[in-house]
Amino acid sequence: MGQFSLSLSFFAFFAALRDTAFSHAKPPRTQRLAGYTKNRMITLTENLIKEIEAHGESTYPNECGGMLIGHFGTDGNKSVVETFPLENSSLEDQSNRVLILPRDVMRAERYAREQKLDVVGYYHSHPNDRAVPSQYDLDHALPVWSYIIVSVMDGKALDVRSWVMENDRSKFNEEKLERGHPARP
Ligand SMILES: [Zn+2]
Repeated sequence: MGQFSLSLSFFAFFAALRDTAFSHAKPPRTQRLAGYTKNRMITLTENLIKEIEAHGESTYPNECGGMLIGHFGTDGNKSVVETFPLENSSLEDQSNRVLILPRDVMRAERYAREQKLDVVGYYHSHPNDRAVPSQYDLDHALPVWSYIIVSVMDGKALDVRSWVMENDRSKFNEEKLERGHPARP
């Protein structure tokens, strides 16, 4: 377990470093005060969004979850190249669910490295709820990552939104979810 948590904090540390390096070049003061997640964007193809929606519908009424694999752009924006769905077994117990299991993060990070990509976030579904992060989501979020949430109402995916946690962990800010083909950096 020590190894797992080390990897997780290492990732968060380097991701935070990277974000700081790229995002605070010369931000306007108001933007700096408002938090680094303002005006951010994540780009996914329509097909990837459909994959996330389909995953949420297939596990309904239970939650689904998975990693977002892609690139961090030099402008602080992200692009998703593929999704990395996680097995339902890790999310079976709704009363004791774990948002991100360290072994899943390890597996996704290893896979991303092999593809010369990064883990840029996490997606999950909200069965019969809005695509808005819960307090539980906030309590378990990592900085820098994007959190894409798909709202699944009565078994049908209705809404997909993306969120990034404020650096001080006080809240999530919504980021623009751009549907299209990202330019490779
Ligand atoms: Zn949630």
